[in-house]
Amino acid sequence: MSAGNSNLPLVWDMVDRKKEVFTELADRVWETPETCYMEIQSAAAHREMLEAQGFAITDNVANIPTALMGEAGKGGPVIAFLGEYDALAGLSQKAGATEHDPTTPGANGHGCGHNLLGSAALLAATALKDWLEKTGTPGRVRYYGCPAEEGGAAKAFMVREGAFSDVDIAISWHPSNFAGVQRETSLANCRIDFTFTGRAAHAAAVPELGRSALDAVELMSVGVNYMREHMPSDCRIHAAIIDAGGISPNVVQAHAKVRYVVRSPDLQGLLTLIERVKKVAEGAALMTETKVESAILAGVSNLIVNTPLMDAMQDIWDSMGAPVFDGEDVAFAEKIRTTLTPEDIAASWAQERIEERDVPLADFVLPAHNEVRQMGGSTDVGDVSWVVPTVQAYGATLAIGTQLHTWQVVTQGKSPLAHKGMVSVAKAMAATGLAVLTSEQLREAAWADLKRRKKGQEYTSPIPASSEPPIAAMTSR
Ligand SMILES: [Zn+2]
Repeated sequence: MSAGNSNLPLVWDMVDRKKEVFTELADRVWETPETCYMEIQSAAAHREMLEAQGFAITDNVANIPTALMGEAGKGGPVIAFLGEYDALAGLSQKAGATEHDPTTPGANGHGCGHNLLGSAALLAATALKDWLEKTGTPGRVRYYGCPAEEGGAAKAFMVREGAFSDVDIAISWHPSNFAGVQRETSLANCRIDFTFTGRAAHAAAVPELGRSALDAVELMSVGVNYMREHMPSDCRIHAAIIDAGGISPNVVQAHAKVRYVVRSPDLQGLLTLIERVKKVAEGAALMTETKVESAILAGVSNLIVNTPLMDAMQDIWDSMGAPVFDGEDVAFAEKIRTTLTPEDIAASWAQERIEERDVPLADFVLPAHNEVRQMGGSTDVGDVSWVVPTVQAYGATLAIGTQLHTWQVVTQGKSPLAHKGMVSVAKAMAATGLAVLTSEQLREAAWADLKRRKKGQEYTSPIPASSEPPIAAMTSR
């Protein structure tokens, strides 16, 4: 371990001193769940906290109104903590309830725990800043408030605009069933809208005059489904019909729009697959004598893990241990467990290749292993990881078996157990920041590892230069 080791109790103490106000911040953001580029109140709450803690603030990062950055310290390396605060649509849920019970049916909810994610990252940044001040050590700490992780790829736009160009190391985390180091890569993905234009007509009187855009959307779906057999099995394609062309079956639909998400383990594979999906769209347009236009809304790159940083964070977790939960936390987690299926619970253990045990909360730190596993989803942290060595933690904020993007995440989102998991992961991140800040050797090893993993490939943004962050597309579909 680095020389920073003897400083760990001090930086952990810095976290503990401020844990109450950051717990309040997480709860406040939970109360105002806002989605994709509309995180006005959540970003404002984070801005207030940055100001209160004495960070110099940059607003409107990469021309995104809900993206912000706070910096503190002088000289030395730049350590970045990445936070998020976006929620998900349709996941409204009362806090602490042990059954599905929406506060407002159909409204938003924090179904991925990003209320905790942003607050813990900012708490870690604050603790490291306080440590720098107290010890007079040169170095800069930054907190990046990153919106629209769910579907908006804000970090990819922020990377494209150079927001991370002078950062030495980036650190983040995600709420989870377990505490430890994230060792998975994620899929590169791309969101594309296909807009078909046909010709309206009375569907019974003069059907021969109509050309249906909705038929084109359906035929595109058939084509993509046939293509699945002939694409790499670790790729994924999903779709949502954004505009079905109206509500009248007796009018031939003159317009229709379908949004596709295409995912692949790497960027090159993604670009190849996108071209094939576009051909299917053109085929559907040809068959129906409609016109098709495609527009890339957002895209993210695959995540590059970093061995020296994962090892440094593992050492810290191993010396810290898992968060300590009390009897009430265990009792609440037991109740949540009754709402999960045995398959949910088995899947959580299986994902980490750990033998299932009859405990509702993790009382251990995930063990180190050398296998880099492929995660099913995607994250815009991927783009940051291509330009800056990046490491991410898992914080134990959920009963084991809880799957992300469910009401069970929302109901646990401001529980005492989530708060304990959040404070503990803030300590792991602050200590990792301290380790990289105080060890040039570790920073050099991290950059060498990134270079090796890129295999000579330069970062290319998955988003075309002409695309703007899809703020308008999200606010008015
Ligand atoms: Zn998430």
